[in-house]
Amino acid sequence: MRPGILGAVGAASAWCAPAPAAHVPRLAAALGIDCRLLYRPGVALTFDDGPHPEGTRAVLEALARADARATFFLVGEQVERWPRVAAEIAAAGHEIALHGYKHRNLLRRTPREVARDLDRTLTIIADATGREPRCYRPPYGVFSTGGLLLARRRGWLPLLWSRWGRDWERRATPESIARRATKGLAAGDVVLLHDADHYSSSGSWRKTAAALPSILDAVTALGLPFVTVTDAM
Ligand SMILES: [Zn+2]
Repeated sequence: MRPGILGAVGAASAWCAPAPAAHVPRLAAALGIDCRLLYRPGVALTFDDGPHPEGTRAVLEALARADARATFFLVGEQVERWPRVAAEIAAAGHEIALHGYKHRNLLRRTPREVARDLDRTLTIIADATGREPRCYRPPYGVFSTGGLLLARRRGWLPLLWSRWGRDWERRATPESIARRATKGLAAGDVVLLHDADHYSSSGSWRKTAAALPSILDAVTALGLPFVTVTDAM
């Protein structure tokens, strides 16, 4: 591993934690991490930090009304609390992906701890949903070198995002979330949203759910299909 890459990983965390990492395409490209799904002519909506008994279900309802599929990056400790909600995501035909066991910055964990946590989370998710995740996005979008190497070894697609609604922010509104998530939207975009407030401002999922119809309409108006991450693999 070149020192420049190690430095870049560390630098990414220094100015983005505890909020999700800013979209840094050059850094992600240097590390071989996808931010967009250019080989699929569609838009991938992604929801992090669930499951959440109310937030996830509100998002599932909005997606169902638009007949849209999405990808949910689940947190192991939340799947343990709400296994039935995790199963509902899978039963609705959405993609299940890995976010971590706890919502911790990888740079504060040893490679051994990261491997143990992710393997444990994979088992928890598989038990709850009957699905084995094939895609990985760490908390805050910050990859450690160990985390990235582990994803490669396990065959998980490391994925960040190209658009975000900044829906975790206290001052976000449904309008600001929809505007940010859809500005300049194009085929291949991966949109970061959150269906849970376990690690963000209280009740943030309500604003995300309220923004979703506008976001779904914007994708449909562009004539683009909703794709999941596995569609792209
Ligand atoms: Zn997260």
